[in-house]
Amino acid sequence: MFILDTLKEGLADLDARGLRRRRRIADTPCGAHMRVDGRDIVGFASNDYLGLAGHPALAAALAEGAARYGAGSGGSHLLGGHSRAHEQLEDDLAEFAGGFVDAPRALSFSTGYMANLAALTALAGRGTTLFSDALNHASLIDGARLARADVQIYPHNDAEALAAMLEASDAAVKVIVSDTVFSMDGDIAPLAALLALAERHGAWLVVDDAHGFGVLGPQGRGALAAAALRSPHLVYICTLGKAAGVAGACVIAHETVIEWLLQRARPYIFTTASPPAVAHAVSASIKIIAGQEGDARRAHLATLIERTRAMLKATRWQPVDSHTAVQPLIIGSNEAALAVAARLDEAGLWVPAIRPPTVPVGTSRLRISLSAAHSHEDLARLEMALAQLDEVNHA
Ligand SMILES: *Cc1c(COP(=O)(O)O)cnc(C)c1O
Repeated sequence: MFILDTLKEGLADLDARGLRRRRRIADTPCGAHMRVDGRDIVGFASNDYLGLAGHPALAAALAEGAARYGAGSGGSHLLGGHSRAHEQLEDDLAEFAGGFVDAPRALSFSTGYMANLAALTALAGRGTTLFSDALNHASLIDGARLARADVQIYPHNDAEALAAMLEASDAAVKVIVSDTVFSMDGDIAPLAALLALAERHGAWLVVDDAHGFGVLGPQGRGALAAAALRSPHLVYICTLGKAAGVAGACVIAHETVIEWLLQRARPYIFTTASPPAVAHAVSASIKIIAGQEGDARRAHLATLIERTRAMLKATRWQPVDSHTAVQPLIIGSNEAALAVAARLDEAGLWVPAIRPPTVPVGTSRLRISLSAAHSHEDLARLEMALAQLDEVNHA
């Protein structure tokens, strides 16, 4: 058989099952109003929750950083690539989001995917048991695999089931890992209950705040600050390409944990540091997030969230009970979800259909992602399009 044939068959199979994905090309910055594939659309697809990805001040900070530090870092953090901008960002983040632990320290990464691989491989090796929420993000699942730990999956947000599993485990090292805000459901983990279990069982609690950082808690300090939790058992990961609007990620924990990661985490050690200009721009973003402009953006986002909840309840589909910027509407089959997304697309509304393996089979959904960049007028357009679709479907 020709070498390419099996792959072609695999792709045809994806087509047949409604699982083929394709990319769209944007000609404008990420924002509520974009030009995508040559058409003007209202975008509900990004994770740019505060509308900062296209903020002129951050583009200016990126340019300033490039003028000061050049284009590339030139090396890994341990071999020449660690700049003043990275160091400053780590200090800024430890101060901003590290209030959950004494002596907080931050370690910056070029992506959240790598930060998760690093945190899990450094804390959980062979002989460790990792307790993982059933709906955790793919990067945490991959981190657990790479760590070669024994993995036990507990039912989504079920602290009681987790308690029983911890009770029954005799692993020398235990690590609990969870998203804070679940990326495809928008609901929030029972963080206080998870931390109580971690403390009772001498376990680490690793939380991935990709969708909470910048949005939740006072000044957007994140999900741990929102829940007012504090413990040396906590290891916090935030990503910087979502609400922060730039790129990268950080692990924040007690300084001893961070020093261990710096010495041992292969996804940290064996990769080129991100461009210093990126770190410089993220520092500028944190100033916006923490200040009055951040407060105003979060307040506006909160009104959009409440309005969307009411709007989705009025449809014939099943909304997920989410109080965050991620507002899913469960449609069911891949084909049905794709059809609804296609109708919205015709109305100039970009709402992605999320399908397996990102979500469980039979729960394909629209993932409406809100941003402070949206206006109430944008939401009114979505509301009208959904109402029209509903009528078509009832007829
Ligand atoms: C997006 C995301 C990541 C990965 O972060 P990147 O910076 O995009 O690599 C990790 N965890 C969760 C929950 C995410 O949603």
